[in-house]
Amino acid sequence: MDIRAIREQFPVLDQEVNGHPLVYLDSSATSQKPISVIEAVDHYYRTTNSNVHRGVHTLGSRATDLYEGAREKARRFINAKSTSEIIFNRGTTTGLNIVAQSYGLANVNEGDEIVITPMEHHSNIIPWQQVAKKKGATLKYIPLQEDGTITLEDVRNTVTNQTKIVAIAHVSNVLGTINPVKEIAKIAHENGAVIVVDGAQSAPHMKIDVQDLDCDFYAFSGHKMCAPTGIGVLYGKEDLLNAMEPVEFGGEMIDFVEKYDSTWKELPWKFEGGTPIIAGAIGLGAAIDFIEEIGLDEIAAHEEHIANYAYDALSNIDGLTIYGPRKRASLVTFNLDEVHPHDVSTVLDTEGIAIRAGHHCAQVLMKELQVSATARASMYLYNTVEEVDRLVEGLLKTKEYFGNVSF
Ligand code: PMP
Repeated sequence: MDIRAIREQFPVLDQEVNGHPLVYLDSSATSQKPISVIEAVDHYYRTTNSNVHRGVHTLGSRATDLYEGAREKARRFINAKSTSEIIFNRGTTTGLNIVAQSYGLANVNEGDEIVITPMEHHSNIIPWQQVAKKKGATLKYIPLQEDGTITLEDVRNTVTNQTKIVAIAHVSNVLGTINPVKEIAKIAHENGAVIVVDGAQSAPHMKIDVQDLDCDFYAFSGHKMCAPTGIGVLYGKEDLLNAMEPVEFGGEMIDFVEKYDSTWKELPWKFEGGTPIIAGAIGLGAAIDFIEEIGLDEIAAHEEHIANYAYDALSNIDGLTIYGPRKRASLVTFNLDEVHPHDVSTVLDTEGIAIRAGHHCAQVLMKELQVSATARASMYLYNTVEEVDRLVEGLLKTKEYFGNVSF
């Protein structure tokens, strides 16, 4: 992988911040965008902008072709069987909420169980809390091991034939843990439950095959994989989606509307009420082209290398605690003794290094780890080991700075 050529595709990376070349290590929050994606959106607005699916005019049918073409790219990207199974929406949060509000409320009843883990993002906790509360169901947690993983034995002990939904992150945005979703799907199915996968941190980084994983639902966000903000995909198995009610009602998603009743369009449009996210979907299509041109195997190999490098380099810093397992996705979450992560991030910013500090939308996990916040450096296809070296230097400076400050 020619990392220099890749970096040239990302104009935002080519700048100084606070007098230093920018080191962007916050891609788990949102990734940067390559020129091809920026240009695809720009070109659409300059030449084609029009509403879709209603067009009797030329621009309308061009826009529709581009929008539906992006759906086909998304289908191929995760190897779904059909474009009927690809629902465009705002992102992972919206996708998970659609499943909870539609499938969850219709299929979870009093006494049933919903199973999640303590490492979930708030977007994969709160929708299930809401369903459990409304339906008198129980929310159960698969216990977390000391190293930030879960065991299949614990999954088997937690999932029962009362379980209706197992909802789990493919990759933790804090620990970097890669969960064995294929095996968990099998256990869920053996118990008559469906599995909902939060793919926000996996789709950008590894080849996803929803048929091989045999997951029932899989949600991901475009903005974490080089696409614009405001576009995401919910995959669902066609028979499940067919049996589900829409959650948003209005234009675009209807077949016929009469005074007191209405009927819905077929999949996937019945879940896409209102004017769709046309430019976003076109941007996502361009992002998929960009990623596929490099190759997800190449990207995964590069990230594995850089994740190992970062883990080893940060492990060598005295007084630095890393959270999560050794085998991980390309992010490192950590704390420096005696220094608040917000202060770590502020000092690093003066060196032009962008990391994230806070609870990372994972307050349940923070409690388990017995911390209020952590710092996180997250890497993507454009990051280099030299940038990790800059992070290490910055952290050593941070330590020195706070070592000299008396509290
Ligand atoms: N799940 C995980 C694991 C995430 O990392 C994120 C984004 N931080 C989300 C869900 C929510 O994604 P979005 O904000 O794009 O809806």
